[in-house]
Amino acid sequence: MQLKVIGSSSKGNAYVLDGQQESLVIEAGIKLKEVKRAIGFDNLPKVVGCIISHSHNDHAGYATEYAAAGIKVLALQATLEAKSITRNCMAIEEGKGYKIGGFIVYPFGVMHDVPCIGYVVCHEECGKLVFFTDTYACQHSFTGVNHYLIEANYSDERLAENIAAGRLPPMLRDRLLTSHMEIGNTIAFLRRNPLNAVRNIILVHLSDGNSDEVQFIDRTVAATGKRVYAASAGMVIDINRSPL
Ligand SMILES: [Zn+2]
Ligand SMILES: [Zn+2]
Repeated sequence: MQLKVIGSSSKGNAYVLDGQQESLVIEAGIKLKEVKRAIGFDNLPKVVGCIISHSHNDHAGYATEYAAAGIKVLALQATLEAKSITRNCMAIEEGKGYKIGGFIVYPFGVMHDVPCIGYVVCHEECGKLVFFTDTYACQHSFTGVNHYLIEANYSDERLAENIAAGRLPPMLRDRLLTSHMEIGNTIAFLRRNPLNAVRNIILVHLSDGNSDEVQFIDRTVAATGKRVYAASAGMVIDINRSPL
């Protein structure tokens, strides 16, 4: 199975877990055309569904387009209502499990400025993947995880520099503190969790002006000893359960 990054920023987020027989889309913040381009235009029938974290347009802006094209959309009731998605969708709840083709997904609550969830995604090809974004912290613990796809939005140091230089308004810091993941929190989260089965850590939703991709990767590698990526559009990563 491959992870294909269609987009990973405040401009639009979408990822595909692209398996041999079936694929799962995560987030609907990028036009469907780009998803088709990534998986091959004839392969749309392989897509068994799309799971969405929350209603902001960079994550759900194209959800109605996906549903209209026959992709079943799974999201919180609040997200479906906010985006007026009424067909080809399913309201899901934290703490329950849902089977989508050969994928089983378990939503869990995270902390953003609108209702937002992360997902544990299990499939025989990739094992166990944990995804969360747009949250200022993650207090959950996970075991046996093979791949992390998790937010590292900003560096507080970089943000403070930008505010001091007048490039950004001071109030932005208050908003980010209660809505997005600071790289130090991402690393603290990883250190709290057992990483013995982890093969890949993919950092997502990096801010354009308040992050430093190289430094984020270096810090995460130093803290975990794992293979670490910063997601960017077009990236393809092998997420098989074990090396082929
Ligand atoms: Zn976002
Ligand atoms: Zn958001």
